[in-house]
Amino acid sequence: MSTRIRYTLSQDQMPKQWYNILADMPEPMPPPLHPGTKKPVSLEDMVRIFPENLVMQEMSSERYIEIPEPVRDVYALYRPTPLLRAVRLEKELQTPAHIYYKNESVSPAGSHKPNTAIAQAYYNKQAGVKRLATETGAGQWGSSLALACSLFGLECNVYMVKVSYHQKPYRRMMMETWGATVHASPSDQTEFGRKLQHENPHCAGSLGIAISEAIEDAVKTPNTKYALGSVLNHVCMHQTVIGQETMLQMEQAGEEPDVIIGCAGGGSNFAGLSFPFVRRKITEKKKYRIIAVEPTACPSMTKGELRYDFGDTAQTTPLIMMYTLGHDFMPPSIHAGGLRYHGMAATVSHLLKLGLIEAQAVKQTCVFEAAALFARTEGIIPAPESAHAIRVAIDEAVKAKEEGRKKVILFNLSGHGLLDLTSFEAFFDGELQDV
Ligand SMILES: *Cc1c(COP(=O)(O)O)cnc(C)c1O
Repeated sequence: MSTRIRYTLSQDQMPKQWYNILADMPEPMPPPLHPGTKKPVSLEDMVRIFPENLVMQEMSSERYIEIPEPVRDVYALYRPTPLLRAVRLEKELQTPAHIYYKNESVSPAGSHKPNTAIAQAYYNKQAGVKRLATETGAGQWGSSLALACSLFGLECNVYMVKVSYHQKPYRRMMMETWGATVHASPSDQTEFGRKLQHENPHCAGSLGIAISEAIEDAVKTPNTKYALGSVLNHVCMHQTVIGQETMLQMEQAGEEPDVIIGCAGGGSNFAGLSFPFVRRKITEKKKYRIIAVEPTACPSMTKGELRYDFGDTAQTTPLIMMYTLGHDFMPPSIHAGGLRYHGMAATVSHLLKLGLIEAQAVKQTCVFEAAALFARTEGIIPAPESAHAIRVAIDEAVKAKEEGRKKVILFNLSGHGLLDLTSFEAFFDGELQDV
């Protein structure tokens, strides 16, 4: 018999609950603060931009929260996702390591982001909201929310970072196909956008600016709420379907991971894969090494400070205790758009501070080398974001070879790169630079 490479679950093995890491934190997390009063934010502050049911989740420390049936029904369009063993990559590397990856690229939007977009659209619909406003960088989050809104009958208004709006039209077209309205940010739709346009007509935009516009839209437009695709507790929690499924699939494989790896922009796909394993580390004293990987160009965990900071440029969000490069940090234009956020989820930041996880930064050219090797051995063209995790998985496999010992490596393939091919072209043409 040849080696088994694909581990699948049936639809009724899909998790029925999300896992909330707040219930198991060995030390409580510092609360988000109101920027004016510097007191912990209240429910009333939060319901200005989010529906109450999601605010309750955000503040909850209940260990497990039931996934509503209508959400599971939509998840079933692509979940459970497969776990694969990268035997061809192992062979190419001549490593004794076993490499496994969870394939989140099989969702209709091509990434893990629908796992939370679907939940958020559902809860907003339940709360009577008619329209969602959000921001997007290269379009992964915007397209995921557009998809979810179309499935639950909500309007979707997306502020897309201007440079991506013009340079990356395909995800904008996906959003429009799913019925969303997309504005290049800074836009003329908000006061903040108009002010920035006036100051600098050539402003290329940033994620922080687009967040500010979307929040202003949500606050000022009737029946409208805001949706965020990463960073927040409830977003990270929705992603834990990834790790819970992976645990069952690793059991099928009869192995336990030694190293668990995820790329981290705001931290949600990393959280989704790793938090159920972090729980075992806390409660069962497991020895997993859990690594969050970021770009050297936007190194919030490896070079940033742990302090209270805003989530956006206009300083409208609560202050969050997180690893941050500063809310006015303008990241260089690297090709992994999803990893260009100045901060990191409070939960991920807290676990890093406590030493339960580690962080590594990798260079863009090394990331694309890993992406090409993965595509040529495993067949799937990975998202440049996901390739950060692949880079470290390969490094760990090479180390295992040098040390001459078996090691089980697990990483999350957060998305495919079929809409990022111009980045691959730039790499092959030798145009990519390291910061
Ligand atoms: C958005 C995105 C990321 C980064 O976001 P996280 O919240 O850190 O997971 C990573 N990979 C892909 C494919 C993305 O679309």
